Amino acid sequence: MKTQYLIIGAGLSGIVLAQQLAEQGKEVLIVEKRNHIGGNCYDYYDENGFLIHQYGPHIFHTDMKEVWQYIQRFSEFTNFQLRLKGFLDGQLLPIPFNFTTMYLAFPPYLAQQLEETLLTYYPYNSKISIGELREKAEQEQKKALSFLADYIFEKIFKQYTMKQRGISAEEINPEVMKRVPILISRDDRYFPHHQYQGMPAKWYTKMFEKMLDYPNIKLLLNMDYKIMINDIIYHQLFITSPIDEYFDYKYGKLEYRKTLFHLETHNVQSFQDNIVVNYPNDYEWTRITEMKKFYPQSLTYHIDRTVICKEFPGQWDIEAYPVESSENKKMLELYQADAQALKNVHFLGRLANYRYRDMDKTIKNVLDFIK
Ligand SMILES: Cc1cc2nc3c(=O)[nH]c(=O)nc-3n(C[C@H](O)[C@H](O)[C@H](O)COP(=O)(O)OP(=O)(O)OC[C@H]3O[C@@H](n4cnc5c(N)ncnc54)[C@H](O)[C@@H]3O)c2cc1C
Repeated sequence: MKTQYLIIGAGLSGIVLAQQLAEQGKEVLIVEKRNHIGGNCYDYYDENGFLIHQYGPHIFHTDMKEVWQYIQRFSEFTNFQLRLKGFLDGQLLPIPFNFTTMYLAFPPYLAQQLEETLLTYYPYNSKISIGELREKAEQEQKKALSFLADYIFEKIFKQYTMKQRGISAEEINPEVMKRVPILISRDDRYFPHHQYQGMPAKWYTKMFEKMLDYPNIKLLLNMDYKIMINDIIYHQLFITSPIDEYFDYKYGKLEYRKTLFHLETHNVQSFQDNIVVNYPNDYEWTRITEMKKFYPQSLTYHIDRTVICKEFPGQWDIEAYPVESSENKKMLELYQADAQALKNVHFLGRLANYRYRDMDKTIKNVLDFIK
């Protein structure tokens, strides 16, 4: 087999890359080991007509106009804005913590006192972190502010992080902890500072099909490239699959935090009051998503049933998040040094760069690479 450009992996990185090369008239072959395109952003309609995000809910959000304009070429987007709720002390409260959360979580006199104190230090509509709040509490000797910082850390961040990453409280990186956001407003959107948000008007996989719709793109599914790479003659090779796998794990296997996505059908119109609910403190799962609520029109098709997805951290389904550790960092550096020595092989995307990136940053990374 012969091609100009060989891309390994038909996830978002491989798809944007293929689209950009094909648009320049290049001949592209994509090899993907799964039986579908889209990588972890893959979605599909099940036999009952429910849209399922197979590898967890994916919400598009960005503050990069370039990325928003690019993606709009392939799909219209709804104006969906994520409002996330956390199951805290038996109630569903908005996350990130904001004034609405404060009034639902605390007695009115305490919430009002905290609101007034916060507004003496920070402008309305600003975003601060627990780290900043703790410093302010110490500087100004304000016990109410330390109480608030401790509440948010304990109830929203600590147990969730321990559960999701499978680590103890002592292992939580203090720098990450300092970044936990607090919104000085009643805006309870999860991404209030991202100007562009939405869901593809149809579904992600449909959008990806359009991105790959060029006569000069060929796609091979159900094929692990390791099996047939020696049979392909190519000019340039793009790896969006794991970097350690490319080098046959010669320095060891980079570790990922696994996540299991468990689907359940319930014979009720609505399972929960919010699309996505986080469970920082209770139960084994970290969150539950009720898929049909992403598209309000689907609520009228399925009045007596609903599908939910529970996420169980640490169990096998996908290798979701790179594990931050000094061993992994050193191993990655060794692989990256070897990668740089190669002439016509390029490493892009979350698995080849061993780095979590949201979809917008994944797209931006490939667009910049092409430039
Ligand atoms: C649980 C979860 C939720 C997320 N939610 C959001 C969200 O709400 N919003 C957002 O912006 N981002 C979200 N993301 C991030 C988003 O999933 C990534 O930005 C995106 O998937 C990265 O695409 P990629 O192509 O780099 O990697 P991938 O999607 O992992 O694609 C890599 C592809 O390479 C293939 N491959 C691997 N090995 C081989 C091989 N040997 N041979 C052939 N093919 C191979 C894989 O099968 C896969 O299809 C989420 C991520 C996770 C894990």
